[in-house]
Amino acid sequence: MGTVNFLSLIESKREGHTLAPEQIQEIIREFTAGKIPDYQMAAMLMAIYFRGLNTAETTALTLAMRDSGDVLKFPKDPRSLVDKHSTGGIGDKVSLPLAPLLACLGFRVPMISGRGLGITGGTLDKLDSIPGFQTLLPARQIVAQVQKVGCVICGQTDKMVPADKKIYALRDASGTVPSISLITASILSKKLAESLDALILDVKFGCAAFMQTKADARRLAKAMVALGNKCGTNTRSILTDMNTPLGRAAGNWLEVKESVECLEGKGPADLLEVVLDSAAHLLIQTGKAKSIAAARKLAEDCLNSGAPRRKWDEMLVAQGADLDAFTRKLALDSTAPAVIELKSEKSGWVSKCDARVIGEVIRDLGGGRLTKDSAINYDVGVDQIAKPGERVEKSGMLCRVHTANTAQAGVATACLKTAFEVSTRRPVVASLVHELIQ
Ligand code: URA
Repeated sequence: MGTVNFLSLIESKREGHTLAPEQIQEIIREFTAGKIPDYQMAAMLMAIYFRGLNTAETTALTLAMRDSGDVLKFPKDPRSLVDKHSTGGIGDKVSLPLAPLLACLGFRVPMISGRGLGITGGTLDKLDSIPGFQTLLPARQIVAQVQKVGCVICGQTDKMVPADKKIYALRDASGTVPSISLITASILSKKLAESLDALILDVKFGCAAFMQTKADARRLAKAMVALGNKCGTNTRSILTDMNTPLGRAAGNWLEVKESVECLEGKGPADLLEVVLDSAAHLLIQTGKAKSIAAARKLAEDCLNSGAPRRKWDEMLVAQGADLDAFTRKLALDSTAPAVIELKSEKSGWVSKCDARVIGEVIRDLGGGRLTKDSAINYDVGVDQIAKPGERVEKSGMLCRVHTANTAQAGVATACLKTAFEVSTRRPVVASLVHELIQ
């Protein structure tokens, strides 16, 4: 495609016309091959941002992006291939207990995950806090581990969906990330490259979510569910609240610890709810259960059997972890040099626990990234978080903050104070899972 030719496509989209599937395929092929300059692709992305893409265009874009690199190929097997994707939030560690649970429920789980940017944590960053654990695996090893262990949680290989990597970097630099069409294509191209039979999407809304309002989250979920199903992967979505952190711990290592607690039946109720709900929907989507109640019971019984906790260790060993070092680390109350409690100044009920403030504190402590290349401190974070609806007494604990030194802890606790509100009246706490989109 010559430069002039591409210019006419930019102009066409700028004027609100529809691009043909072949034109979209060519754009993705040429851009991935480095034959379209970034400034022209950025102009096209901005035209798409304002004009949008219809269903046929979004489908063509998603499939062209998926096919820009390797698609995982699995041998024939009676076990369905399933995965979950979350749009991200604070304390969202669901993938960690969910992958081994799904493997024990008889699924194969090629969970290709990402890193955190800004305040939202990334599954790979959490896993990097486990001694020896490898997240960068070649495609052959991903497939082999899924076949043998039942689950893998790892990063995208260099050869998977290269178009998304290039386009996402441009979107990030050109103000074109928040487009439903582009988000849908970006997320689904990566998930479809896993060759899944079924996919559950956890689309979050609230102050710490990518989509701040429930209406926007619903629009994104509907677009992704429609497209996933159209592309042959049975896709459902739950809309979940991300105004409050999920669970009682946020920060890379602290979230791994809480995930293991969840696998041992000692995890927080809200985390358990999303883990069991996600598993239950996948059981229904793949025909292994008829009702949500029956599916939840299957998932709950499986978790309580202890098999997913053992499967977690098996997955860790398969990915190079030092299990003894991991077990010793788990036994520690904290791996950070300073741990300070934030105490309530009055008695009452927690009425607010702002996930955005907590996420910003953790990012500023070094637990998240300000830029793609920032180094991560895995030990910092916040735990023992008091949640809305819970009673707290004067001088009782609202949370603990784990930091690199006591000076940092002082600054962090001052910020964390603003995350909490304690009221004399018991608040009505909305449910965590709001809607199912199918
Ligand atoms: N996550 C992605 O992978 N892509 C987007 O466009 C947005 C969130």
